[in-house]
Amino acid sequence: MKSVVVIGAGLGGLSAAALLAKAGLKTIIFEKTAYIGGRCRSIWYGNSEFGKYPFDVGPIFSGSKIINLIKERLKEEPAFQDSPVKIHIFSKGRYLTDMSSGRQMIKSFKRMGLSSLETISLIYRLWRQRYLDAYSYMDSHHDIACFLTKNQQMRNIFNMRAGLFHGCLPDDMPGYTFSKPYKEYGTPFYPTGGMQKIPDTFVNIIKKYGGRIYTSTPVSEVLIEGGRAVGVVAQGEYIKSDFVISGVSIVQTILKLCKGAKFSFTFLDKIKSYKQGLEASMTFMIVDKDKVSVEDGNVLYISLPSSDLNEVMHQFFNGIYPDDSPFGLFLTEGQKRFRPATLLFYTPRGEINRERIIQEGRRLLERINLLIPGFTKNIVWKRTVTSIDYPDEIGFRSCVLPVAESKTYRKVSFRLPIKNLFNVGSSVLPAGGGTVQAVKSGLKCAEFIIKNI
Ligand SMILES: Cc1cc2nc3c(=O)[nH]c(=O)nc-3n(C[C@H](O)[C@H](O)[C@H](O)COP(=O)(O)OP(=O)(O)OC[C@H]3O[C@@H](n4cnc5c(N)ncnc54)[C@H](O)[C@@H]3O)c2cc1C
Repeated sequence: MKSVVVIGAGLGGLSAAALLAKAGLKTIIFEKTAYIGGRCRSIWYGNSEFGKYPFDVGPIFSGSKIINLIKERLKEEPAFQDSPVKIHIFSKGRYLTDMSSGRQMIKSFKRMGLSSLETISLIYRLWRQRYLDAYSYMDSHHDIACFLTKNQQMRNIFNMRAGLFHGCLPDDMPGYTFSKPYKEYGTPFYPTGGMQKIPDTFVNIIKKYGGRIYTSTPVSEVLIEGGRAVGVVAQGEYIKSDFVISGVSIVQTILKLCKGAKFSFTFLDKIKSYKQGLEASMTFMIVDKDKVSVEDGNVLYISLPSSDLNEVMHQFFNGIYPDDSPFGLFLTEGQKRFRPATLLFYTPRGEINRERIIQEGRRLLERINLLIPGFTKNIVWKRTVTSIDYPDEIGFRSCVLPVAESKTYRKVSFRLPIKNLFNVGSSVLPAGGGTVQAVKSGLKCAEFIIKNI
């Protein structure tokens, strides 16, 4: 029986482990923290008076493609119920659009001041880009947004995925990222009971097929002999295996875990040049359902600046708090009278003043009243976890992308230049760094191993 050791219980590592355990490999996962799910994790916050609810400390929603991957590639049923996420976009408190398509989209274009001719031209260009990848040769994501339309609000909506969803600079994100991840993500959904339900699904499958997961067990080294991976060192113990899959960031795998390995200078230089995306901070809240007028279900409100989002993202990267910071507010269903809500906002790069971040969170909360009148008055419980608190309090750094997208490099594949050593998760595979891509990389890697045994 062949064996595999997986480093890290994030979505990439868990999905690879699930498929390999199911294929009959002896599968062991070592996870550094006491938790399963990595950055895809829910924590129960609240109190006896208003109730406790699952709050998501990483991703707040996933793409429906993840459900297809579990069903089609793993041939298993997800252990959660999914419900749609509605996304509403605002600028300066003025409603711009939701992310629906068809007639509704045309109405939104008009609301944003586009003439009928501009609307038709934009729809045609969008179709060409999305289905034919027609403008992907352009240098950056931002260049394509600018080519598609002159309307600043529309450009911001196109750059939203790069800036707000990934914490990257739209003009540093490669042009090809404009369309491909879009097709591969699916529609947004939320697993009832919290995002933690997604990793829990993989854990069920791993255990069902005899795999083992050890939490609070960090791996300090990948064992390499004669140019091939032969196991790991976990808490001082040598564990041999036929394959090693690292689910931690590619930078950490190569520069910290592969101590005895020899890589070419070109490969090492490439890995050293990888930059991390911006870090996020969160305010978790419980609001009085009866007094706050929000439609039912899972609703994400996004507030975009009225100026150029690309320039605003540059301010964050230069350590500046923009006047008109973009932010997200996510509300899930909750129970009876109360509803959980999360404010997500970015921390300017290099910020070390925790109080300043908290103050920024308070400032943004006041702005939510423009989107939902009377919101702040009806918060009954609140707690802010800044990006500075994240590593100690939550267990990871709150960057959406540990390896940000950049025009100057492409991420590497899950196959590494060491035999029988692989890296999965959102820090490898070009284009995209969300939950779907993390799972996809894990499954692709597992399929490759199964095919080549
Ligand atoms: C604030 C935030 C918001 C996000 N929002 C979204 C969103 O809305 N939608 C979306 O699709 N994606 C979102 N993402 C991205 C999403 O979280 C990731 O794509 C996905 O969860 C990453 O999975 P992964 O497997 O790559 O890595 P991780 O989740 O980082 O997993 C790596 C695991 O390895 C463990 N580990 C590290 N070092 C060691 C070691 N030495 N030994 C053993 N274990 C180790 C870590 O503890 C961790 O559990 C968000 C991320 C963040 C942080």
